[in-house]
Amino acid sequence: MKEHVLIVGSMAFDDLEMPYGTFNDVLGGAATYAAISASMFSPVRLVGVVGSDFPPAVLQQMQERGIDISGVEHAQGKTFRWHGRYAADLSSRETIHTALNVFADFHPKIPDSYRTSPYLLLGNIHPALQLDVLAQVERPRLVVADTMNLWIHTERKTLEKLLRQVDVVSINDEEAKDLTGEGMLRKAADAIRAMGPKSVIIKKGEHGAALFDDDGIFFVPAYPLEVLRDPTGAGDSFAGALLGVLAAQGRSDRSDRVAMRQAMVIASTVASFGVEGLGPDRLLSLEKSSLAERLRAFEAMVSYGGPLPALP
Ligand code: AMP
Repeated sequence: MKEHVLIVGSMAFDDLEMPYGTFNDVLGGAATYAAISASMFSPVRLVGVVGSDFPPAVLQQMQERGIDISGVEHAQGKTFRWHGRYAADLSSRETIHTALNVFADFHPKIPDSYRTSPYLLLGNIHPALQLDVLAQVERPRLVVADTMNLWIHTERKTLEKLLRQVDVVSINDEEAKDLTGEGMLRKAADAIRAMGPKSVIIKKGEHGAALFDDDGIFFVPAYPLEVLRDPTGAGDSFAGALLGVLAAQGRSDRSDRVAMRQAMVIASTVASFGVEGLGPDRLLSLEKSSLAERLRAFEAMVSYGGPLPALP
């Protein structure tokens, strides 16, 4: 049975300076990307905040995809806005400006109807708010959390408290190194797991993602693309799709290692579509048939066709 994924995080407008042009007012926010991706697989419940400038049509479009938006707060003022500038090869970016706007006073309120959601994605917000969300829900079957360097440096203690209560941490390689002081990913993952989470997913952008858990290490490559337009939100699309896939099967990392690994492959493939478009537009137009086709190509790409031969 398909189960619900609860997603909490930022909803935004992004101003994106790309090497091929500047684009203002692009739909963004970590929760937006995650919700759009998760909704390809399972019903989603969304908690975030938007200002009076947020177009009702966008919320309606989300609703039509099976995203429950009754937990999206409408506040007086402007929606959160992030301005980023990408390097010529899109492999890195800098934040030019962050205008928190209504996000500055965001205190997630989990509606009663959301409290028993079995899958929870704690998007990258202040760890105290992530803890506050956990305090408002019945213990979900699977809690996945994201974070960022800002909180690693400024809210270490609170972040550590959070980590003791989540099942999976999904972060990028830089953040993993920042959090642990370990330069080697494997050591960084072990150090994070020692802080609480049973599983750690470390995302390495165009180099794929690795899952570290009790079963060892599982690595998924990023699908090699012909077109890369906008990497914004790739990690959020990945995390949203991962939870959506697990929720669609009623699985968690605790119940099934194969399900977790398969979800990683599908999540990586969804994220590969996301970065082909500007903002979440390619995710919004993605059809099941295109996803299925790329998954077949992905399988072919990683399959040896049989066991490796014995060494001579
Ligand atoms: P990612 O590429 O995974 O870092 O996610 C990009 C999204 O995160 C963008 O659409 C931004 O609107 C949003 N974002 C940027 N900075 C923050 C922040 N400090 N807190 C929450 N969301 C943010």
